[in-house]
Amino acid sequence: MAKNIRVRFAPSPTGPLHIGGVRTALFNYLFAKKNNGTFVLRIEDTDQNRYVEGAEDYIKNALDWCNIPYDEGPGKDGGFGPYRQSERKHLYKEYADQLIKTGFAYYAFDTPENLDFHRKDHEAKGKTFIYNWHNREKLTNSLSLTPKEVDDKLSSGDPFVIRFKSPKDETLNLVDEIRGEVKIDTNVLDDKILFKSDGMPTYHLANIVDDHLMEITHVIRGEEWLPSLALHVLLYRALGWDSPSFAHLPLILKPVGKGKLSKRDGDKMGFPVFPLQWVDPKTSDISSGYKEDGYMPEAVINMLAFLGWNPGTEQELFSLEELINEFDLKRVNKAGAKFDPEKTKWFQQQHLQKTDTELLSKQFEIILSEKKISTTLPIKTIVDSVKERATFVHDLWNLSHFYFMSPSEYDEKSVKKAWKADTSNLMYELTRILLDITDFSADNVSNIVKGWITGKEIGFGKIMMPLRIALVGSLQGPDLFEIASLVGKEETIRRIENAIEKN
Ligand code: GLU
Repeated sequence: MAKNIRVRFAPSPTGPLHIGGVRTALFNYLFAKKNNGTFVLRIEDTDQNRYVEGAEDYIKNALDWCNIPYDEGPGKDGGFGPYRQSERKHLYKEYADQLIKTGFAYYAFDTPENLDFHRKDHEAKGKTFIYNWHNREKLTNSLSLTPKEVDDKLSSGDPFVIRFKSPKDETLNLVDEIRGEVKIDTNVLDDKILFKSDGMPTYHLANIVDDHLMEITHVIRGEEWLPSLALHVLLYRALGWDSPSFAHLPLILKPVGKGKLSKRDGDKMGFPVFPLQWVDPKTSDISSGYKEDGYMPEAVINMLAFLGWNPGTEQELFSLEELINEFDLKRVNKAGAKFDPEKTKWFQQQHLQKTDTELLSKQFEIILSEKKISTTLPIKTIVDSVKERATFVHDLWNLSHFYFMSPSEYDEKSVKKAWKADTSNLMYELTRILLDITDFSADNVSNIVKGWITGKEIGFGKIMMPLRIALVGSLQGPDLFEIASLVGKEETIRRIENAIEKN
């Protein structure tokens, strides 16, 4: 029987989750759901110095908002917990010890000063200092010291680290699901630290041990981890474990200029790079979020899916369900994906149009009550009349405020264009016509008013434009008679009288 597919999203709680991280979570989620697998959240908090208060909650809230919940993780034990590395601390030492015993790792006692000296010395000679086969025999470690010296150092409590002993003169043929074969010459690898004397493993050891113990079958993560792939594969080999499959997702690039999209780019360039707003616990600085800016999670997810993946067809609009059905790692690109804030807005606009008017009306009612507008008008009809011009729910107010409030001022340009010397008289005549109408439906008012205009043999614009100014305050908005009918006869006449008075 094929193994149950298990993937994990393994963020470090060092700050808010950047949209690149959300994209990684999304691709893991889609892959898991497509294959009836399990999506695990693991919190990689071995580096306590970089721990940021509130970051873990932020990660969970962001996944929730995006509708990509984890199946297993903190608070959702699936039999592989705990899911925070700080709570798994006791597990790692045994594997570091095993690697020492089998000769794949060694103790190193070099002081920071000593290492710094070597680094500077190499720099001065135009070289880079790499701790590996090249010089490890000359440095202070269990490969260069006698067993007795090592024991003495350990028992007297000298600070140490455990380093991986990278092999010499080997070519590794690594396979990445997205990039294909990647060849690595082991001579360029350094002897990475696996374990520190503070009792904590480094990312590399903890990550491999956990992926193994959690029976992860596919590691899907950002391209920035590709340079670690060789070490990870070597660690699996050294521990005698099968390695999972690996897929490194392409970088997300800045919309303009060169390089990776960074956490700082967003507010600098005028768009959010975070799913939710983030308030820095130390500085209280606020970084904007897609949610608070009015984006729908469906739109953000759709946009993120296209950062590095495409379905191979013309279709661009996808629901989460459709993404799950279509998703395939084989269709993920190698090349970096340019982030495009305008396209993100387009996705938002498209998803808003697809949203049921009933649902939009509910959200719009919240905005109305925040604005202390109480109304008996049919909200759904109003939303329907302006929806096609909206990108965000909050646009609905700007597009429809005139239904709820008579204009308090009139757009100067529109007045100049449409309110002529004879307009006030014509508008007064119009109020008399409207007064006599009993069936104030949009169609009936339209028929009567248009008939009257035709009878007077004047251009339609001479009436329609000032009427629009009277009802809306400018020359914008949906069908005029629809507005008149909805606000009702008295209010329509009142607004025309107001406009006559003020113009
Ligand atoms: N903790 C790593 C990160 O913050 C995880 C990398 C991986 O997925 O292996 O991205």
